[in-house]
Amino acid sequence: MESYDLIVVGGGSGGLAAAQRAADYGARVVVFESGRLGGTCVNVGCVPKKVMWTAAHLACAIEDAADYGFHVEGVTHDWPALRKSRDAFVARLNGIYARNLEKRSVDCIKSRAELIGPHEVRDDSGTIYRGEHLLIATGGYPLIPDLPGADLGITSDGFFELADMPRRVAVVGSGYIAVELSGVLQSLGCEVSQFVRYDSVLRNFDEMLSRHLMEQMHELGVEIVSSAVPTALEKAQDYTLSTEDGLSFSGFDCVLWAIGRTPNTASLGLEAAGVSMDDRDFIVVDEYQNTSAEKIYAVGDVTGQAPLTPVAIAAGRRLMDRVFGGQENRRLRYENIPTVVFSHPPIGTVGLTDQEARERYSDEEVEIFSSEFVPMYHALTSAKPKTAMKLVTVGEQQRVVGCHIIGPGADEMLQGFAVAITMGATKNDFDDTVAIHPTSAEELVTMR
Ligand code: FAD
Ligand code: NDP
Repeated sequence: MESYDLIVVGGGSGGLAAAQRAADYGARVVVFESGRLGGTCVNVGCVPKKVMWTAAHLACAIEDAADYGFHVEGVTHDWPALRKSRDAFVARLNGIYARNLEKRSVDCIKSRAELIGPHEVRDDSGTIYRGEHLLIATGGYPLIPDLPGADLGITSDGFFELADMPRRVAVVGSGYIAVELSGVLQSLGCEVSQFVRYDSVLRNFDEMLSRHLMEQMHELGVEIVSSAVPTALEKAQDYTLSTEDGLSFSGFDCVLWAIGRTPNTASLGLEAAGVSMDDRDFIVVDEYQNTSAEKIYAVGDVTGQAPLTPVAIAAGRRLMDRVFGGQENRRLRYENIPTVVFSHPPIGTVGLTDQEARERYSDEEVEIFSSEFVPMYHALTSAKPKTAMKLVTVGEQQRVVGCHIIGPGADEMLQGFAVAITMGATKNDFDDTVAIHPTSAEELVTMR
């Protein structure tokens, strides 16, 4: 039986980062991956999504270019060509990931793995491997609702398989994926109707972000159908989506479910290894990524905590710093995680929302600074969408506990401000910083 210091189940963002860090400390490591190396992010997530977002961003820029004197009549877009280049880019990344493992002498088994005890896993061929430590980083997959005809729809996985651009799409959901893919599809020329269960998108985000995004999605041409709880999907010539209030919506050639993701924990053998899950099947971990079983850890989406690539990576690396690097208290702290939604326009957000701050502190302690303006990018364009920003501060020192931005460049603007907030910056520190002009970011250091 092969024996390792560390067995990693799942070769996605968290698993690969952890495997490589452990190998850097001299551990003997094996990674099991049942699909493509790189996991969700590289194959059906962040990477191909960002490529599609960039294409959509260019489509909008071409429209704006006319207002800057360019002749852009007759510009067309070739979806199959974009898909081909995008898939080739992803395939290159798959190769790079494999070589990174080889360089560090990390073994990679292209198979599903199942835990058959606290220290043992079995691959598809029945071979058993033993590991002193075991890391579960199996990620998750998109949910499909439990309603008649749901299988006729696609998820984000299917979006990346679309051979050509759909004509008229129903997007169901109101989170990250729904708003990102609605924006991409509409910008590239589809007609999008987005169905949300309540009355807004991104309900867990600061209200300002959700309100501005709804307005700008509307301007882009996305139809947002609110209070729409789907009950059935049917296909005749086109698709028809029925909702709880007795209405039905027809004429779609594609229906995309974007209603959340669920962890890959089924038939993983977690019971055999004594690993506990919560009532939504996520693996329960403590603040050091320990599961309920000794020397078995979990990181990333499978734990249900802030399901983002850099979170899975940071949790995996810090865990290995602790287990193999002798850094006893090393762990990821889950507060102040910056995140960007690649909507049209993008959103950057870190820390507490206005509402969360008021719940955690008293109303008197919370002070809000906000700004709305037409960014200079739109100086000459006929459309004048506004950028909106908000700083949430607490206490006499006005410590900045939240920063929320929507508008062009928000995606690239946020990282540096997240550093400042992690360091405990106050409003005064922001005000003491000399502005960079003319930019949108300067508004964050000149708010009154
Ligand atoms: P994964 O990357 O999902 O990796 C898990 C791996 O485990 C998979 O490769 C799977 O095949 C493998 N596996 C599962 N079970 C087994 C088994 N039994 N044996 C062997 N292998 C197994 N995050 C961002 O930060 N920024 C973004 O812009 C962003 N965009 C996204 C867009 C989309 C459409 C989606 C779906 C997600 C996006 N995310 C984004 C989220 C990000 O992709 C995930 O948070 C991240 O991939 C989680 O990493 P992970 O290691 O936990 O799991
Ligand atoms: P999200 O959790 O972001 O959003 C899903 C939303 O869909 C829910 O919040 C809910 O909103 C709505 N919903 C849930 N069930 C139903 C239902 N039955 N019918 C209709 N609507 C429903 O999930 P996503 O799938 O969009 O993304 C998964 C995760 O992946 C994200 O949370 C994020 O962490 C990560 N991700 C990150 C990205 C980035 O960093 N840019 C991009 C994409 C994904 P409501 O309650 O308002 O109805």
